[in-house]
Amino acid sequence: MGGCVRDLLLGVTPKDFDVATNASPEQIKALFRNCRLIGRRFRLAHIVYGRDIIEVATFRGHHPDEEDEQPASQEKGKENVSKQSDHGLLLRDNVYGTIEEDAERRDFTVNALYYSIADFAIYDFANGIADLEQGLLRLIGDPEQRYREDPVRMLRAVRFATKLGLRIEEHTAAPIHPLASLLDHIPPARLFEEFLKLFLNERAEANFEQLHHYGLFTRMFPLLRSALKQSTSVEYKMVQQVFADTDARLRSEKGVNPAYLFAALLWYPMQAHAEEIMAEGGLAEFDAFAISAADVVGRQSRSISIPKRFSLPMRDIWMLQLRLRQTHPRRAIRLLSHPKFRAAYDFLLLRAKVEGNSELQELGDFWTQYQKKNPVPEASTHTGPRKRTGPRRGRRPRRKKTDD
Ligand code: ATP
Ligand code: MG
Repeated sequence: MGGCVRDLLLGVTPKDFDVATNASPEQIKALFRNCRLIGRRFRLAHIVYGRDIIEVATFRGHHPDEEDEQPASQEKGKENVSKQSDHGLLLRDNVYGTIEEDAERRDFTVNALYYSIADFAIYDFANGIADLEQGLLRLIGDPEQRYREDPVRMLRAVRFATKLGLRIEEHTAAPIHPLASLLDHIPPARLFEEFLKLFLNERAEANFEQLHHYGLFTRMFPLLRSALKQSTSVEYKMVQQVFADTDARLRSEKGVNPAYLFAALLWYPMQAHAEEIMAEGGLAEFDAFAISAADVVGRQSRSISIPKRFSLPMRDIWMLQLRLRQTHPRRAIRLLSHPKFRAAYDFLLLRAKVEGNSELQELGDFWTQYQKKNPVPEASTHTGPRKRTGPRRGRRPRRKKTDD
């Protein structure tokens, strides 16, 4: 149901098949031994078949209106069921209901299509098929209220529009810009998930353009707010270029690491901050970069949390920009086997391109030639996250760390 029916009707291959049912998560769990219940805000059952997971959601019903709400003393038992913040944000969405009610609680009309295995028919409670035919992405219900309940729906509007080639319907689009600041109340971990969905799906550049148009992008990246006002700024070019490169890599089935993306997006704010630190405290460049890197990751994490497994390599990519300037043979050869060398080298070339900087380009050319002359064995150029499959094999003794 939902996304996969929509995708099949559009001729898009569904990413997954979500199931909806009138059984409660607890009832589902009782039926399937391979079932796990997940989520607090939105409780779901995951039925696990090896690497495949079927997501099973219970039909959602309506939330009690404010006026009908019980006095606070009787509210306690409902904590787990339904909860709203002062901003109208839904903190819990676990009121169960009928399939018709479930359809109304879905975000877009095209996401409220159900395929029933009882009669092999498609159930369309929200006119989703008509909207699909007209190429429209339309929110169900009052758009402003729906965005207030869950501001992430603004990001989803952009994502589905670019993914499915739909136009955001006028009334669905109108409140987005005025309400963009509601994203500030979304937990950073949830925005990280959305970040991955928006920018690692071959539509990164288009999503960026639209998010920026609606004032959403700089809500996710406040450190870029002033720089992105000018589409001629180097920051703007960097953002656009790194997303274009990401799309191209994914289309040719090459890996993309979120660490690289974050490093590129935040490079100029990090560099500017490092320069301030140097000017103030007379610190050495390397130390100023290290402090600035930590500050910038900390500040960004208030909007989008960056897990350590990405923030650490991200700092490596940044710090390596300094070390790549050292082309002395003894140092250069050591750099080649740094696990983030390849990413740092790619980023150096990207900077040269974005800035049209011939000195950086020459440095990049040096490293291109240098790698040709000094090929490194496959294993040490591995860029993705390492997965250990067997027992740890004997490795070279680790070199003592030097402070260059
Ligand atoms: P995809 O998996 O390709 O990103 P999808 O439509 O399956 O697309 P999911 O995030 O997996 O999207 O959600 C499954 C369904 O749950 C959606 O089709 C939609 O009906 C509903 N849904 C998900 N998130 C929300 C939300 N924030 N508000 C309302 N309904 C939602
Ligand atoms: Mg899905």
